[in-house]
Amino acid sequence: MSKKPNQAFIALGSNLENPISQIQQAFDELRQLPDTCLMSHSSLYKSAPVGRLDQPDFINAVALIETHLAPHDLLKALLDIEHRHGRVRESLNAPRTLDLDILMYSNVKCHDKTLTLPHPRMSQRAFVLKPLFEIAPDCHIPGLGHIAPLLAACQEQKLEQMSA
Ligand code: AMP
Repeated sequence: MSKKPNQAFIALGSNLENPISQIQQAFDELRQLPDTCLMSHSSLYKSAPVGRLDQPDFINAVALIETHLAPHDLLKALLDIEHRHGRVRESLNAPRTLDLDILMYSNVKCHDKTLTLPHPRMSQRAFVLKPLFEIAPDCHIPGLGHIAPLLAACQEQKLEQMSA
């Protein structure tokens, strides 16, 4: 395949059924996606739940992939991985075995029934921005600008870095 691959950043989150191993297994599954290379991933971070507080802490990370999959095909592949992890969509902010979001896909902007790029809530969440900053400190988010001031604005959100 000769065309230049697209760079995509994927946010991973889990707070059910051994979240650390859910995330580590998901890294392996990203590695095995067709026409895709896992380039790097962040450390794991522990974060307090947002919105609905009566649930376990989350484990979060961000991965960088290079892929020839089109954005909607990548989304479908990620939803298939979530499904294999027993993900049940109960309600917004509900606990979950595995959540995979496309944060950015090259410089693509998209807003349709199934996919919004960049991810609409990524700029307000330290549990996304901190691991993203770890692997891409010069990251420029289409339509939002450089990551550093966005992360600075979320500093009051507590996050514990767990492992390298
Ligand atoms: P949730 O798992 O609660 O984050 O919601 C997943 C749903 O959000 C999917 O079924 C997608 O259709 C939709 N969605 C919209 N934009 C994105 C995105 N950038 N990454 C992942 N899912 C997205």
